[in-house]
Amino acid sequence: MKAIRVSQYGGPSVLKLEEVPTPVPGPNQLLLRNHAIGVNPVETYMRANTDNRGPKLPYTPGGDAAGVVEAVGASVSRFKIGDRVYVGGAAGAYAELCVCDEANAHPLPDNVTFTQGAAMNVPYATAYHALINRGQARSGESVLVHGASGGVGIGAVQIARAHGLTVFGTAGTETGRQLVRDQGAHHALDHTSPDYLDRLVELTGGRGVDIILEMLANVNLQKDLGAIAMNGRVVIIGSRGNLEITPRAIMNKNADVRGMLLNHATPAEMADIHVALGEGLRNGSLRPIIGAEIPLANAARAHELVMEPGHQGKVVLVV
Ligand code: NAP
Repeated sequence: MKAIRVSQYGGPSVLKLEEVPTPVPGPNQLLLRNHAIGVNPVETYMRANTDNRGPKLPYTPGGDAAGVVEAVGASVSRFKIGDRVYVGGAAGAYAELCVCDEANAHPLPDNVTFTQGAAMNVPYATAYHALINRGQARSGESVLVHGASGGVGIGAVQIARAHGLTVFGTAGTETGRQLVRDQGAHHALDHTSPDYLDRLVELTGGRGVDIILEMLANVNLQKDLGAIAMNGRVVIIGSRGNLEITPRAIMNKNADVRGMLLNHATPAEMADIHVALGEGLRNGSLRPIIGAEIPLANAARAHELVMEPGHQGKVVLVV
């Protein structure tokens, strides 16, 4: 089968399409014929070995995919050959086929496309875990999705709206802000404008928001502390550097600043998250938005695009 291989760390051009043996599923695994593969920013950090996070070389990137079950291990009971599924945590998803544990596979409802399925695991599970489990969101509260036009942000807007929160979202372009409104945000703000958080505070009658889901903490965390309500929670989802912070601003709001990594969700939490996401897909409250479909062979372009400002929705590879 064809797969993308990384044999040295570096820029997007190190992603090469090669012929590799088709993997064989273990007893608790299934073999998936991929129709679409999710491209997440973390895969660019691994490819570049940022913070020494690169896997052992050579490797095939990717963990999220959607497709049709091609084979199942002897102990697999929930799936059979021919089932449509989306998966997370697959070993080397940037490929025509991949294996994943049965626990990390989820039924793909008929009303959801394969490209949408590939947009589910990391973005939507992260959004759900950040908002509901780490952010402890309750209906009637307000949330700022700080970076709402990307894969995680769109998921967060849809989940928050479905849970009865008042939703504010930011994007750096007008098309991004329109997308954020179209996905259910009550207000869309421009994170490139100097006074957008003053406007947010104004829109909340001076109170601020109960929860901030933060996609770029190294730029925004200090500013967030001026926009959070008393007893509010800032959940850090993404950060790409350092910043200096005034701890008193946290004290003044009796605020919680909470980190989250999807990898730290327990197997039980992940199972619950995917039950909720599956129901959201079936009832139409969750509708992944695909920003770009790029052929597997051109994975390098997908890695450039996912790091470009102003791209909207999810970048997926198609097979
Ligand atoms: P993405 O699709 O590239 O979206 C990035 C979002 O950030 C866009 O809405 C972008 O808007 C926005 N943004 C850019 N500059 C910003 C600023 N100054 N302030 C606020 N937002 C800004 O990425 P993603 O897949 O949604 O992931 C978002 C972040 O979360 C990434 O850093 C990723 O590594 C991280 N992440 C973490 C976890 C975890 O487990 N903690 C899981 C998944 C993702 P414009 O382009 O319009 O400016």
